[in-house]
Amino acid sequence: MTEIIVADQVYLNDDAGTVLSPGVIEVVDGVIHSVSPVTGPRPSGEGVTDLGASLVMPGLVNAHAHTPMSLIRGVAEGHSLLTMEGFLAVLRTHEAHLTPELVPASVAVSCADMIRHGTTFFADQYFFADEIAPTVQRSGLRARIGWGIVELGDDTARARELAAAAAFAESMAGGTRVQGWVGPHAYFVDNTPEAMEAELALAKRLGTGLHVHFSTSSEEDDWCMAEYGKPALEVLRETGMLDVPTILAHCNTVPVDQLPLLAGTKAALTVIPSVAMMSGVPAAPVREALDAGVLVALGSDNVCNNTNTDLFEEMRILGKLAAFASHTPNHVTPREILGIATRGGQRALDGGPDDGQLVAGAVADLIAIPLSEVSRGPVGAQSVEAAIVYGTSGASVSHSMVDGQWLMTDRQVRTLDVADALSQQQRDYDTLVSRMRAAAAEEDSV
Ligand SMILES: [Zn+2]
Repeated sequence: MTEIIVADQVYLNDDAGTVLSPGVIEVVDGVIHSVSPVTGPRPSGEGVTDLGASLVMPGLVNAHAHTPMSLIRGVAEGHSLLTMEGFLAVLRTHEAHLTPELVPASVAVSCADMIRHGTTFFADQYFFADEIAPTVQRSGLRARIGWGIVELGDDTARARELAAAAAFAESMAGGTRVQGWVGPHAYFVDNTPEAMEAELALAKRLGTGLHVHFSTSSEEDDWCMAEYGKPALEVLRETGMLDVPTILAHCNTVPVDQLPLLAGTKAALTVIPSVAMMSGVPAAPVREALDAGVLVALGSDNVCNNTNTDLFEEMRILGKLAAFASHTPNHVTPREILGIATRGGQRALDGGPDDGQLVAGAVADLIAIPLSEVSRGPVGAQSVEAAIVYGTSGASVSHSMVDGQWLMTDRQVRTLDVADALSQQQRDYDTLVSRMRAAAAEEDSV
């Protein structure tokens, strides 16, 4: 199937930062066949979508999300979820009452949020992955869904979770747009060495990746120093975890002198700057990671204390936080930030070498934004990358295409019934709260 897209500006996101004004993109069977400037008459007719005065650019990649947690959006406000204490006190109390049927509507809400704000590819990590996958398939988004594993040293739980993760990833094998990954919640503090080895073996056998929280706070390094006499990243390297695509979510407290261990590996330092800010912890060392040749990606994390999945906002916060913390303007440049949110994310999620750009051979994952809503400085005064990162809101994205399919046109999500999902999510939340109240009352009566 062939589709032609025309727009006043097409930002290729290639090494040269090329902008075609106007440009035309030819998509064949979900892949970009050609991209070129419009030199003669503007193409029109059947199969042509003319987006007019819009900027077309590659879609953004959210390398760390937990889509079902839209069900408990906001419940962790005022808490840090980056410590074991916060995780157990807030999240586990809700999750203890979560059952599979409460998952799909919230996944739909999260997917619609991501589509609405310009994300075209994301990595999920949560329990109930087999309940997540059908809704993600329907959404049209590209995704790597990590089967969440929390075994907490329990042999029975470990065996059960590993078998379930294997069955899930195998059931997704052969898919290109949506794949199953292995998603241990975290290493060390809630995962035994036996579980880590088994998870790695599973990822290698199935040719998938690992998705894990890492260095969210200094707890992990402290634990590894006490247990192994060496930092967590060194232990990870020795186990072989860095030899497969591995999302290391957060990395707030990775020691800078350890970063060279990540250089040239398939592991991605995945930064979630707004969660670091909300939790009052240091932000991941992005500048130092880039300088060390480390693959860097961007995520949104859960919405329990981040409340949204707008990667334009994450890009903006990444840049401002890096400058603020280092007392250095442009410590991470807009060009680098955009690269992290596009090409970096694609590489982190095992995308093709050209993916994340609008060039021949890349996947046709793209978004459009009306030029009137991209920062409007005088022509030549501001780079297009700065205009995108600092002068554009995710809410301004008007169109989204993944794999050659339109997921959103004129700000209407076409693949999901958002109103229906929101209504169902409310009913699901009411069910969850009534279960929590009943359990508390029962406990009180004992
Ligand atoms: Zn997370």
